[in-house]
Amino acid sequence: MFRVLTCLEGEHDWRLVVLAGAVCFLASLTAISLLLRTRATLGNTRALWLVTAGVASGCGIWATHFIAMLAYQPAVPIGFDIGLTALSLVVAIVIAGAGVAVAVLVPAGWAAPSGGAILGGGVASMHYLGMWALQVPGRVTWALDLVAASIVLGMLFGAAALVVAVRFNTFRAKLAAAVLLTLAIVSHHFTAMGAVEIVSDPTRIIDRFSLSPEALALAIANAALLILGLSLASAFSDSRLRHKDRQFAAAVNNMSQGVVMFDTAERLVVCNRRYVEMYGLSADVVKPGCTLRDLIRNRRETGSLDRDPEQYRAELLSAMAQGKTISWIVETPDGRAISVINRPIPGGDWVGTHEDITERKRAEARIAHMAHHDALTGLPNRAAFTERLSSTLEKAAADGDSFAILCVDLDRFKEVNDVFGHSVGDALLCEISRRLQAAAEGTFLARLGGDEFTLISEGPQPATAEALTERLFAALASDIDLGTHQVRAGLSVGVSIFPQDGEDAATLLINADAAMYRSKTEGRGAVRFFEPDMDKRLRDRRALQHDLRSAIAHGELSVHYQPQAVIGGAIAGFEALIRWHHPAHGMVPPAAFIPIAEESGIIIPIGEWILREACREAASWPHPLQVAINLSPIQFRHGDLAALVHAVLLETGLAPHRLELEITEGVLIGDFDRALSILRRLKALGVRIAMDDFGTGYSSLSYLQSFPFDKIKIDRSFIAKLDANNHSAAIIRAVIGLGRGLNLPVVAEGVETEAQLAFLSRESCDEIQGFLIGRPLPIAAYAEIVGRPPSIQEIAARPPLRQAG
Ligand code: C2E
Ligand code: CA
Ligand code: CA
Repeated sequence: MFRVLTCLEGEHDWRLVVLAGAVCFLASLTAISLLLRTRATLGNTRALWLVTAGVASGCGIWATHFIAMLAYQPAVPIGFDIGLTALSLVVAIVIAGAGVAVAVLVPAGWAAPSGGAILGGGVASMHYLGMWALQVPGRVTWALDLVAASIVLGMLFGAAALVVAVRFNTFRAKLAAAVLLTLAIVSHHFTAMGAVEIVSDPTRIIDRFSLSPEALALAIANAALLILGLSLASAFSDSRLRHKDRQFAAAVNNMSQGVVMFDTAERLVVCNRRYVEMYGLSADVVKPGCTLRDLIRNRRETGSLDRDPEQYRAELLSAMAQGKTISWIVETPDGRAISVINRPIPGGDWVGTHEDITERKRAEARIAHMAHHDALTGLPNRAAFTERLSSTLEKAAADGDSFAILCVDLDRFKEVNDVFGHSVGDALLCEISRRLQAAAEGTFLARLGGDEFTLISEGPQPATAEALTERLFAALASDIDLGTHQVRAGLSVGVSIFPQDGEDAATLLINADAAMYRSKTEGRGAVRFFEPDMDKRLRDRRALQHDLRSAIAHGELSVHYQPQAVIGGAIAGFEALIRWHHPAHGMVPPAAFIPIAEESGIIIPIGEWILREACREAASWPHPLQVAINLSPIQFRHGDLAALVHAVLLETGLAPHRLELEITEGVLIGDFDRALSILRRLKALGVRIAMDDFGTGYSSLSYLQSFPFDKIKIDRSFIAKLDANNHSAAIIRAVIGLGRGLNLPVVAEGVETEAQLAFLSRESCDEIQGFLIGRPLPIAAYAEIVGRPPSIQEIAARPPLRQAG
């Protein structure tokens, strides 16, 4: 130490020492700036900045040394070997560059101190090469302890300088690092100079290829200029970069994704606000310069990482090192989902993007839910049922279990829906669904659409399905309150059981449906288990439908006429009733084939056929009696019914006032406005409209208000129950009173007995129709009444006919 001080005091020009220190600090600051710049860039730009940083530090070290050498004034004249002086510059640049490269490029915690130590080593190498270049007329001796101390000092301060520079990415840190680097160079230099002793030896002469101190000063000036140039370039690029940085920061911080970028040393280079917010991290910890480890620790502390931090880090780094892009989804403690993609980029750095996909996932879940659930009731839909059925089937087949499918249909739901409106219908469906679901007690229940539901009942059969059905019926046993209306919903249930009623989904479903259909036709509100003959019935029904299509063409349809009489008076007209003579089955009653015809749309040509047939027939009668024709609701929904009736009237020449069209309230259910407009057009033709089957529907009464009907026909069920039931009498009385109030004639249908007739005439009913007056028969049977002379055979076959009243 003593020698160091003497060296400084006795043998140096202080002004030059200060200059050396100043140049050294400037060069150090430039080198540190360039090092940090190198860290912040990638690829070729990074290589360029790396070289620049190497040149700046090398020149700085070199210039400091030789300015200090100019300050060194031994008693003897000195010179410098040109080759070695130049070589020392090259060595300084190369080793300093290597130090910077290690500090910047190596992805490890030890990289910065090691790089700094290498840099310090570079200072030493340069120094001793430079001393080797020194030519003096004397012998140079070295104090080895001080030599060692100088090397250690350079390396220690060098390491400290780079650690500070790399770890704390602030301006102060930059200054501190520059000071430390200056200390590394200066402390090394002066300690090393203290180790030198020159003993005069005039026999040694200075080489003629040596640099004079003046020439050296020139070389130093050039090196200093170079440093100045580089620091200017650094400062210039710095201000440009700062501007770019601001733009970059603005762009990055306004991204909807969280972004982080790490360099090869596992240090955070880029991190936007979104990232910190997304995981609720600490902005003081997670900022550029922090290590991956620090960040992961903060993630762990704030609860957004539920993995082992070290294992997580190792996996991440290994994937990045292998150039693999990895992605996964993080569930945050507050229930958000974040999609993470980590992608390596050229140069060894890597970028992580973090996107909050909670909303997207929710939307996806909603869509998936919608695809499998009915929007109105929230129950599983047909798609869900199909999937569930196939998986249940697979499992049952594998385990040898049995299960049941229940087809459930609401009775008369369509009427409620149409009469009270869709919103009431919807509310009813929701309430029914809720009750059925509660009664199902976990059994899979789906709504297939409309008022159709299905259940998949697992467990021993038929006991499980029976118990389930009982619960379903019980659930709907009480009235449903729909605010303005109280409704009682009935069920028809059909059950098929795997495997005996079908081994595949389609068969099971068809058979459960057939059983349900049977329960419906046999009086609603019942459960039926599938029986093989139901299948046959369904097939029969389809066969019938098939045969019906060709019935008109094959001349199998005919019209029967049933008389309608004024009470106590004459026959006023006839109701035309269709008959089908099936080649194999004989007479098929309209109740059996009209629904099939309606279902398949065949009612359209059949309706047109009977209209034309009955009008033509009536037009041919000598007596201008009425003819009443039944219209199906389906005829109101397709084609132009009013135009058809008009055309048929013109075609057959029947006077419109002789035609009466009978409609049921089903016509007005559904598209009420359309039906009403057709009825008005029909009425405008001069045709009369009768309300048929009055009293059987929900709202015959309200329909009477909405359209000026010409006649009311009391349903025959009331007449049939007249003898046994006081209610029926009351209803009939009320309807007759209503007709009188509205000035509408009332017709009683299905009058079979004298007692019924007596009641009706007592109540002043206007007209009657029924077997008591005459059965529906071919018109020939009533030839005389319509004004045609009957044939002998017809007289013989004449049915008992009596006057009403
Ligand atoms: P509806 O319009 O109510 O016709 C009256 C039904 O009552 C006829 O049955 C008739 O035979 C029956 N009937 C008449 N008097 C009595 C009686 O005293 N006692 C009993 N028990 N029944 C009586 P039908 O001919 O079997 O027709 C049944 C239903 O088929 C008709 O009921 C009508 O809704 C429909 N229908 C018949 N012909 C046609 C048609 O040409 N077009 C349409 N759309 N429907 C038709
Ligand atoms: Ca009728
Ligand atoms: Ca009727």
